[in-house]
Amino acid sequence: MKLHLPDMIAALLVKRRKEIADPDAESRFLQYTVISCAGVLAMVAFGLVSLFRGEYLLFLVISTSAVGLVVGWLLVFHGSTGILVYRGNVFLFYVLLYYVTYLGGEDHSKILWVNISPLITFFLLGRKEGLIWVCIMWLSLAAYFFSPLKLPGGHDYGFTFAVRYLVSFMVISVITYFYENFRHIYRTDLEKKNAMLLAEIQERQKMEASLRESEERYRAIYHHAAEGILLINFQGYIVECNPQILAMLGYQQPDVVGRNIFTLFHPEDLEKLPPQIEKLRSGEVLFIERRMRTASGIYLLCEQSGKKINEDLIILLYRDITERKIAELALERANEALDRLAHFDGLTQIANRRMFDRTLKNEYLRMKRERKNLGLILADIDFFKQFNDIYGHQAGDDCLKNVASSLSSVVHRPADLVARYGGEEFVILLPDTDETGCRRIAEKMRLKIESLGIRHEGSKVHSVVTMSFGVGVASPGDLDTPCEAVVGAADKALYLAKEGGRNRVR
Ligand code: GH3
Ligand code: MG
Ligand code: MG
Repeated sequence: MKLHLPDMIAALLVKRRKEIADPDAESRFLQYTVISCAGVLAMVAFGLVSLFRGEYLLFLVISTSAVGLVVGWLLVFHGSTGILVYRGNVFLFYVLLYYVTYLGGEDHSKILWVNISPLITFFLLGRKEGLIWVCIMWLSLAAYFFSPLKLPGGHDYGFTFAVRYLVSFMVISVITYFYENFRHIYRTDLEKKNAMLLAEIQERQKMEASLRESEERYRAIYHHAAEGILLINFQGYIVECNPQILAMLGYQQPDVVGRNIFTLFHPEDLEKLPPQIEKLRSGEVLFIERRMRTASGIYLLCEQSGKKINEDLIILLYRDITERKIAELALERANEALDRLAHFDGLTQIANRRMFDRTLKNEYLRMKRERKNLGLILADIDFFKQFNDIYGHQAGDDCLKNVASSLSSVVHRPADLVARYGGEEFVILLPDTDETGCRRIAEKMRLKIESLGIRHEGSKVHSVVTMSFGVGVASPGDLDTPCEAVVGAADKALYLAKEGGRNRVR
């Protein structure tokens, strides 16, 4: 197997990048790598020089330092001790520098060492810690050169060299310090921007999640609502529908989405659409009953509520009310039947006593207000008891029905009322009719009944069924008398008609 070095290095770097998430540590590591390479190369060169010169102790120190540098680099590469390894390296370098100084000799290699030291210090330890290390080193070197207490074994350096040595160290230190400072500010700024960006992204993700959640919630309502829902645009085209409307009308989704909703409406309802659309456009809620065409072609009666969502969309909610409508109709019919039962006589199908009483009160007040006459006729079949006795109850009932419809056929005004007063007695209410008019109508009725020609062998006045009529009129002058008075008057008149020989009007 052939090893390809660039690929291996690339693979190692990728591995390392994955392991080290901190970008600052990563950039420091890159600096460390460059410095280590430069340091190892320089050490190799100085090591060889010292070896050739026969300075074996110096060679040992240099090669140990070079190995230390390589080992340190490997340690940091594997992400282990980090800053401790950097400190160890700096320390090693300073020992070396101090040792090189201690060896004496005013050669330029010392200036090179002294220049590399602050570089390494700041690059590896950062501007703060680096500053402490550099200060300690510079002060100790200054002490070495200028202290009156000479270290044992120390060499004497000339004043100029010592100053160059220290100034060079100081200049490189200052330059590197400012470089590191600038790098730090730049990094901090970048980090701040990154943090802001990260916060923004997180905030956006949170917002998106909550938006998604709320959308899901609304989707659920939309899909599980009891009502059928359609979203349409203002041209009437269906944009969306929920499963309930499809189930209600029996369509599949493709039949509905994209279709014009007007094709689902009853043709008779189309002309009412423009004002409804206007209402929706103005933002009002539209609440109407609507016939909706189903897939089978029949129409369902739906309760439709509609509302504009925005300038393009309208939401329409549908509820099938066909069954409710049927129930409503049945109730209406039942109410009508009840009403008939309450106000109409079961046998003759004309108004009953209760209806008469109510109408009498209303009409009496109306006539009083309008200052008009209220006419009233009481009519009673003559010898009806005998009729029943001779012909039976069934024939009696038939006779009553005949009489009722004949009496009703005589009056024509909407306000006139013919009612069964009880037994074989009838009452005719004639608003706005004076005594002459009442008499005329009663006479007409009398003739009508006689002309029916219903045989009545038990009658002592005729061979057919006849009736007696009593007329009463409340005139505008009788304002304070109660309405019952007019009935009393008619009753009295009827009595007189009976007394007077029956089959007549009084
Ligand atoms: P008059 O000429 O004096 O009025 O004599 P009449 O027999 O008609 O008088 P009365 O009021 O005493 O009799 C009323 C009779 O009407 C009693 C009853 O037999 C009969 N009648 C009352 N209501 C009904 C009914 O609903 N059906 C039938 N078949 N007969 C009824
Ligand atoms: Mg009677
Ligand atoms: Mg009678």
